[in-house]
Amino acid sequence: MKNIIYAKNIRASIYKPKKCEIISINGITYIGGSNSIKEYSEAVLKNSADIEQIISRAMEVEKMIEYDAFSIKEDILLRYIKLGEILDKMGIVDKFYSNSECTCMIESLDDLKDDSFEYFTSPENKELIDNSILDFVNDFGLVGVNDIQDYFWGVNSLGELDNFTISIIAEPISLIVNDICCFYSFVKHANPEYDMDFDIKVSLYCNQNKVWKSEYVFKSLWHLIRYSLVSTLTSDGEGLRQCPQCNSWFIPSNPKAEYCSAACRNRYNVYKCRKAKKENQ
Ligand SMILES: [Zn+2]
Repeated sequence: MKNIIYAKNIRASIYKPKKCEIISINGITYIGGSNSIKEYSEAVLKNSADIEQIISRAMEVEKMIEYDAFSIKEDILLRYIKLGEILDKMGIVDKFYSNSECTCMIESLDDLKDDSFEYFTSPENKELIDNSILDFVNDFGLVGVNDIQDYFWGVNSLGELDNFTISIIAEPISLIVNDICCFYSFVKHANPEYDMDFDIKVSLYCNQNKVWKSEYVFKSLWHLIRYSLVSTLTSDGEGLRQCPQCNSWFIPSNPKAEYCSAACRNRYNVYKCRKAKKENQ
């Protein structure tokens, strides 16, 4: 049975422009299709009335790519957790979340500005963070944070903020970082007080030959990543472990696997040998 993920609306993360870029507009750093953002921001600066047209033209040029994200949901999950590891090493996860309680509250666009939402501790690590997230988005598509109501206080999404039409074609990195910190913190500190909600739609149907088929529909990667965590952490999956050698999170290929790779297992054994030798001297 082949499961597919598809987007019901254009805001979903499965909208995958051919190539995304990082672009800064009015103090906010975004990831999105470069042509659409540039055209859009020029239109905004000129207060042009044909923003909607620009958006639809840009969508036509950059096309929505559908791909079978469900079949690689573990890879997507591990890559998202990897982004969490990067932020954690810089102390950014703890900066925002001391426990699994998460969600920043967005009331206006100013809340998303790079200097009000300090998701970095130096210009160098801002560049590393921005580029790591860009790599993720270029591989899998936008995350879908624009639609997550938990992040918005009194508004439904970025789309409702100050006529923020750009949310269809781009996502502020600050909001993605916020979500990664929240997600990673949840994974790292298992805490009975916190849970995670997300939406999933499952369809059952039979095809022309009367063979049963199922279809999982996720509105965005945001929901798929969470579903992937469920299937990995609970009894249906192999679990998620942190490698004692390199601290990377991995899905063990067999129940006894302690290390993420043979290389890490060997490195640990060499380390153990050296330590024992030293102690014997
Ligand atoms: Zn390792």
